[in-house]
Amino acid sequence: MGRITGPVCRLCRRDGLKLFLKGSRCDTGKCAFERRSTPPGMVQKRRGKPTEYGIHLREKQKVKHFYGVLERQFRTYFARAERGKGNTGETLMSLLERRLDNIIHRVGFATSRAAARQMVLHGHITINGRRVDVPSYLVRAGDLIRVKNRTKSLQLVHAAMSSHRREVPDFLSRSDAGVPEVRVDRLPSADDVSIPVQANLIIELCSK
Ligand code: SF4
Repeated sequence: MGRITGPVCRLCRRDGLKLFLKGSRCDTGKCAFERRSTPPGMVQKRRGKPTEYGIHLREKQKVKHFYGVLERQFRTYFARAERGKGNTGETLMSLLERRLDNIIHRVGFATSRAAARQMVLHGHITINGRRVDVPSYLVRAGDLIRVKNRTKSLQLVHAAMSSHRREVPDFLSRSDAGVPEVRVDRLPSADDVSIPVQANLIIELCSK
């Protein structure tokens, strides 16, 4: 199971927007993108106007970095979106948005998707009463996602929630009474995606 490693702030500068990959640091003045939003690297002047391919590629890379998926897994999502009914771009974004690590991050149980991924891998999360330790698990409408009722799990989630209060997206409902839990009310639509993206550019690139 691959994951993105290396200095992540460079990815924000490369993709030209804040990808929120470093947890609470992203909302402080220490954010590298806030301080210097130019692409990383020494040779700035040689870079001319981006090519059409470059624009398409950047859009795809941006989405991959944001959700923390590598190329092979991204291609799997694309193939699944292509097979599905409806708009391929919207289906692709909905699939990515349904990832368990994304949901855990969006409801504020973890300060970043990387932290959410680790939380899932370490068995702190259950779905419909069963432990799920697969960060790429795709949630379904009606799923009840719960933090495990044990001290370590609760401490982790409460620490994240107190340091970083997130607005819960419309397709989810969170309950903080007792053990924090989230209900998936419906599948996410294009409006629920939290990154500005031109999915049609990605589809054009991946369809070639
Ligand atoms: Fe991106 Fe966060 Fe680093 Fe800022 S602090 S550049 S948002 S990863």
